[in-house]
Amino acid sequence: MAFVINDDCINCGACAIECPVEAILKPVKNYNNKISISKTLSAVHYFIDLLNCNECFNEDEHKCVEVCPMDAIKNINS
Ligand code: SF4
Ligand code: SF4
Repeated sequence: MAFVINDDCINCGACAIECPVEAILKPVKNYNNKISISKTLSAVHYFIDLLNCNECFNEDEHKCVEVCPMDAIKNINS
């Protein structure tokens, strides 16, 4: 799916708590084991596993976008 976290992220973790499918992951430094997750993988800030994000299917809002204090989560298709 098409939501990504940009460099404005301050790693507060709020989005990861709210995501109904646990698609938002902490930054990782070991790329070797995580390389298949998605192109959005980051060692600096939280990132969204594009394979698991369902864009909050059947929800009224995009949970992560709503809670982010930095407006750091963007829909790259819009
Ligand atoms: S849009 Fe919804 S499903 Fe996708 S990462 Fe954000 S909270 Fe999770
Ligand atoms: S809510 Fe926003 S600032 Fe906090 S970890 Fe998620 S993307 Fe980063």
